[in-house]
Amino acid sequence: MAVEMIYGGHEESYGLLPGYLHMLRMCNPGSLTDLEVDENDRLKHLFVALGSCRVAYTMCMRPIIVVDGTHLKGRNKGVLFVAVTKDGNEQMFPMAFGIGPIENDESWKWFLYQLKMAYGQNSETLIVSDAHISIQNVVKEVYPHAAHGLCYYHLLNKITRYGKAAVAFYQKAAYAYRESDFDKAMASLKALNKDGGAYTKLMQVAPERWARSKCPARRYSFLTSNVAESFNSRLLWARRLPICSMVEAICHIIEKWFDERQEAAKTFSADVTPEALRKLTAELERSRRYEVVAMSPSTFKVKYSNMSFKVNVQTQSCTCFEWDMNLLPCSHAVAAIRHLGDDLYKHVGDYYQSAKLREAYSYRVNSVPPHASWIVPTDVASIYVLPPLWKR
Ligand SMILES: [Zn+2]
Repeated sequence: MAVEMIYGGHEESYGLLPGYLHMLRMCNPGSLTDLEVDENDRLKHLFVALGSCRVAYTMCMRPIIVVDGTHLKGRNKGVLFVAVTKDGNEQMFPMAFGIGPIENDESWKWFLYQLKMAYGQNSETLIVSDAHISIQNVVKEVYPHAAHGLCYYHLLNKITRYGKAAVAFYQKAAYAYRESDFDKAMASLKALNKDGGAYTKLMQVAPERWARSKCPARRYSFLTSNVAESFNSRLLWARRLPICSMVEAICHIIEKWFDERQEAAKTFSADVTPEALRKLTAELERSRRYEVVAMSPSTFKVKYSNMSFKVNVQTQSCTCFEWDMNLLPCSHAVAAIRHLGDDLYKHVGDYYQSAKLREAYSYRVNSVPPHASWIVPTDVASIYVLPPLWKR
């Protein structure tokens, strides 16, 4: 009752959607929204991608899209679909959200098509998700050229019953950068159980889906779908609100994050983001005990203990593959760059540059003014949207 007193009735809130989405597009140029109703004017699907998120993602973010679906709360029935990534400072970055009746093939296909219209795709696009059967069914259809990675925890649940050693080898295999390390971990896993056990279970799913070294696209640090699940948890309160207020509340959160991060980015002291700087500092510490031998003006052999890695500073590559896959120099690369006397930040990928992050959050998200001051054209005002007859 209190929610209805503050935000208005649940039922009436559906009728506000066409006007609200129109105003949202007017206040935020470049935004893409869609509202689909059935033959009885009842809500079928809803989609929102804010203009600022679209520009920021396309210009400055790694081409990874993590998707997830979660149930709405309170009197709302249906599912909230979200697409999220992480910016160069490893912060949650919402790309789009949608509402539909249930997590099935039709809803996921609708959401992913809208997402593709808003963000496009390229040869490096990687979709990360849980193992929901509908996502698996439709990703290949909607994103034929994108890689589709599975969340690390999905397979972990299947491996846990084989014991701690099996879990440790699975983790090594999944997180390995080099195929040789993947092979080693899988051989150890195979040797654990004579009848196959965890090894057989894992190999039922193509390693391209869950092992970083086998993935056809760069997986960076996106081994799980946690970031999308975390975003959904942040929206727990909004998911109870009448539908139009829910959409508004989600846009408000994104607006707040843009404002806060824009302010924070102004204070960055280094050329790279604080999170990239933290990682580089750790690599720098590690690199102090390495011996570096120049093999050519751009290639170096980096040695320590009985290990040896070859770094090519020009192609930004190391035989440990960390630099190649994260676009952030590994400890061997840091040692080589220091030996060369070159600027370390010059060799960090664009995604982690402070200037890029500042640029990403310079595009503001604008609130829609109160209902009384909306200016809605008659063709939009004449659209009826009634609450759906969805079941929980
Ligand atoms: Zn390396």
